[in-house]
Amino acid sequence: MTVLKKLNFDNLPTPFPCTACGQCCRSVGDSSLTAYLSRGDGVCQYLDEDTNLCQIYENRPLICQVENYYKTHLKEKLSWEQFVAVNVKLCQKMQQ
Ligand code: SF4
Ligand code: SF4
Repeated sequence: MTVLKKLNFDNLPTPFPCTACGQCCRSVGDSSLTAYLSRGDGVCQYLDEDTNLCQIYENRPLICQVENYYKTHLKEKLSWEQFVAVNVKLCQKMQQ
């Protein structure tokens, strides 16, 4: 508990269970919130497809920072657990 509190996860109980599959970065064209990141085919222009890593990770947009986006825009509307449940389903859908 102390360790968890120290790590804090930015005051969230758990981090988002991201598997780093990169599918959200390959589907930016599917959302009006991220379409501007597309290189023209729905894949983010900042995704390194060889490494599956974000080339601007430290400066990636807020929409790509799951925990921070939740805290900034959604924490008054739904719990972290609800947010995670909804978004894990979206991740699974993208991974199909
Ligand atoms: S689709 Fe979901 S699990 Fe995959 S990288 Fe994006 S947030 Fe992580
Ligand atoms: S900016 Fe980075 S984290 Fe955001 S969609 Fe593009 S590659 Fe993914």
